[in-house]
Amino acid sequence: MTTLTFKELGLSDDILTALEKKGFEQPSPIQLETIPMLLANTHDLIGHAQTGTGKTAAFGLPILESLDPTSGPIQALVLTPTRELTIQVSDELHSLKGKKNLTITPVYGGQSIMNQKKQLKKRNDIIVGTPGRLIDHLKSKNLDLSHIKYLVLDEADEMLNSGFIEDIELILSKTNADRRTLLFSATMPKPILSLANRYMGDYKTINIKKETLATTLTEQIYFEVRESDKLEALCRIIDVEAEFYGLIFCRTKRDVDRITEKLIHRGYAAEAMHGDLSQFQRERVLGKFRKKICSILVVTDVASRGLD
Ligand code: ADP
Repeated sequence: MTTLTFKELGLSDDILTALEKKGFEQPSPIQLETIPMLLANTHDLIGHAQTGTGKTAAFGLPILESLDPTSGPIQALVLTPTRELTIQVSDELHSLKGKKNLTITPVYGGQSIMNQKKQLKKRNDIIVGTPGRLIDHLKSKNLDLSHIKYLVLDEADEMLNSGFIEDIELILSKTNADRRTLLFSATMPKPILSLANRYMGDYKTINIKKETLATTLTEQIYFEVRESDKLEALCRIIDVEAEFYGLIFCRTKRDVDRITEKLIHRGYAAEAMHGDLSQFQRERVLGKFRKKICSILVVTDVASRGLD
């Protein structure tokens, strides 16, 4: 199967260099759909996609591409449900911007408000933050969002679940109407759609489905590979099977999480299982595996004990 390259999606050399440095080989499905659309026209966007599909680069690359380093006001705002996600998204954007002189600032609760205030007085091109803390800054007039080009609502359903919907509306009301709004969510409950209908312009919807594979096949083979080639080799092994369905054993919990994450963002239906999961979570994961909603279970040997 051939797929377009990042270059063919219309990204500039600076950004391509940054992508190469990060080791991104080819765009993920959501990136393939989102990047050209965001670069080409001015529609708003709803992205219906799960975590780990590469959303950050999907919205981040076109935004980074289209912003100019100026000393003017804040140009983009990314809202996320949690402090962890704020840090993760802001780090990811930072690593994707390459040499482009753009300032990306994370703003979240738990950090000194005075230090944030100081930082907000300086030049900031992109703000990534959680709704609660951003509202504090809006109320004390530390933050001016009236000239933004982009507003991103990341994991909108999680923000809804955390009770942030009114905060989001308040923040939206403090932004300029001619901004471009991008909303990403794994689920599309009514309040999200009604938010979109009230606050978004003419929008396009992109749906990214999770791949599902099926049926069993077991054999014993070993491969000698270099440590650095292990992930590639693993993916090749999975790919050559018409219907891969199986377990991947790792030595540590960290390895389980790392491998699962890598597999998921490459588009594989993988789930992690290790000692940190509660009994309930364990049952849930096993249920998905039995029903073949997920076809790859990444486990530590401890966690897999008692598996039938
Ligand atoms: P999401 O926001 O959908 O949860 P992220 O954007 O955080 O997912 O991406 C998950 C991980 O995949 C990150 O570590 C990111 O650097 C990586 N990633 C994203 N797109 C690609 C790609 N095209 N190639 C390789 N890695 C990617």
